[in-house]
Amino acid sequence: MNAPNAMGSVPSQGVDDVASQSGSSMLSLRDLHLNYIQPVDMFERLGMLVKGRRAPRSVQAVAGVDLDIRAGEVIGIVGESGCGKSTLGRMISGILPPTSGEIFYRGQAISGLVGAARRDYELGVQMIFQDPYSSLNPRMRVIDIIGEAPVVHGMVKRTRKEEYVVQLMQQVGLDPAYRFRYPHQFSGGQRQRIGVARALALKPSLIVCDEAVAALDVSIQAQVLNLFIQLRQELGLTYLFISHNLGVVSHIADRVVIMYLGRIVEIADTETIFSRAHHPYTQALIKELPGLRTDQRQFDPIKGELPSPIAPPPGCPFHPRCPKVMDRCRVERPLLKTLGQDGPAPGLPDISLSLHQSACHLNDVIPLEPK
Ligand code: SF4
Repeated sequence: MNAPNAMGSVPSQGVDDVASQSGSSMLSLRDLHLNYIQPVDMFERLGMLVKGRRAPRSVQAVAGVDLDIRAGEVIGIVGESGCGKSTLGRMISGILPPTSGEIFYRGQAISGLVGAARRDYELGVQMIFQDPYSSLNPRMRVIDIIGEAPVVHGMVKRTRKEEYVVQLMQQVGLDPAYRFRYPHQFSGGQRQRIGVARALALKPSLIVCDEAVAALDVSIQAQVLNLFIQLRQELGLTYLFISHNLGVVSHIADRVVIMYLGRIVEIADTETIFSRAHHPYTQALIKELPGLRTDQRQFDPIKGELPSPIAPPPGCPFHPRCPKVMDRCRVERPLLKTLGQDGPAPGLPDISLSLHQSACHLNDVIPLEPK
């Protein structure tokens, strides 16, 4: 498989090459695409026949993502609704199959995994969803929501299930006395803790958190974020933390990935994103965060709306909203380029040298960062 690499250039590496390179990466994404086919109703089908157009429209939700996630790292994926971040999370979790490209888990392509290796991947990558209420079966008691899957997978004997659930509930800050209650008998924050315990029950190494605190009150958000940080320290977990809120991600992520219309437009360690954001879209996301700039008195939202992924703009997809747009931006799509190299992310070993990359034509007119 020849796919653009995370540097934005076009490599000539095969599956085996990626597998050997990703020894330090828990997860590697290579040229990942996902296209949704837009369903057509009877009238649209008639219109297509009259106009002679037969192919249904396809929506590019994810359009060529390359990313390496190291063991123990927290990656924040940020962008507006519709940028493809949740679709990316669902592909990594195995819920959605990619249209093309490959996902490597511990160096092995997941499309080729069978038997025990497939099971290791399916148990090792768990997902926590945005809405803790709809993601829990309302007819099941908490003891079964948390404890049934590990019993089914042979990780815990049925006779030890209750003891196992009690231990997990304590670990996520829930009173084990409530283990026979149903989800509707808990608050939103408690329900999200049940979702966390359910994910932890399968002893995962990577947890995909899809807007995991977005549905909670601000004070509860802080408590659940602290729980994620505590569990990472205790269990050495790796997180892919998906959020539309750059401020939330800044509390937990070592590196931040900014997505726009299905593509990565900037990636750097968290400190660099906030101190030296390069892409105008990242700068706009930071500007609209209240409280980060002391001179900011008014809410400063990004101008315009996210274009439709059915008909993305030519050239740079951000150009209709970009305050720095140039003629070239309207016709030529910028590729990810390396601007500089950041130091090791806090708390991570020597593998954590991060590249600061952005996809913007300003890269060609602004001097690169010193290495
Ligand atoms: Fe703005 Fe042009 Fe950079 Fe796109 S390529 S973000 S339009 S300056």
